[in-house]
Amino acid sequence: MELVVATRNAGKLREISRLLAETGIRVLGLDAFADLPEIEEDGETFEANARKKAETVARLTGRLTLADDSGLVVDALGGQPGVRSARFAGVDATDEENNLKLLEELAGVPRERRGAAFHCAMALCRPEDECLLFFGRVPGIILDAPRGEEGFGYDPLFLVREYGKTMAELPLDVKNRISHRGQALRRAVDHLLSPK
Ligand code: IMP
Repeated sequence: MELVVATRNAGKLREISRLLAETGIRVLGLDAFADLPEIEEDGETFEANARKKAETVARLTGRLTLADDSGLVVDALGGQPGVRSARFAGVDATDEENNLKLLEELAGVPRERRGAAFHCAMALCRPEDECLLFFGRVPGIILDAPRGEEGFGYDPLFLVREYGKTMAELPLDVKNRISHRGQALRRAVDHLLSPK
């Protein structure tokens, strides 16, 4: 089975490819298809953006396509940055700039009010067919300084309570076991590999 994974985010592609490697499903990245347009993530929910990406790429490539939309939901910020996680500090912001902005927004907020969660919606679309959606969520706490070198995005600031470590201090296999993306992807894979 071949699956197009519709993301240009290298960190996400690494995580998804690692999990799919165990299943025998072959991953095709977007670089396998020349001339695909940029897809604007203008939805107000993770679900709407994931569906838009997967539906568009499935239609343009004629192949089974998976897309993830994910982000960080921070309690003390009323759910921000949410679907705007990648551009929290501005269009084309780097991970470092987004992390700095998050620290600024949470300056002075005590630990007991620094709760947050990573959310993931994953859409699986066949060309000219309905899309299926799968979800995952992992809770944590936003630290006041980054720790760790693994992962990407907000991982260095996101403490996973059970491990006493940030997502960026956990090896990829452990992150995949617990993460929002790992949860959603396992649900999608279970569906794909279940006998019809
Ligand atoms: P998307 O490409 O619109 O789904 O944006 C995802 C953004 O959410 C990323 O650029 C990160 O800022 C953040 N994000 C999503 N998943 C993770 C994760 O696993 N670790 C850290 N940050 C994440």
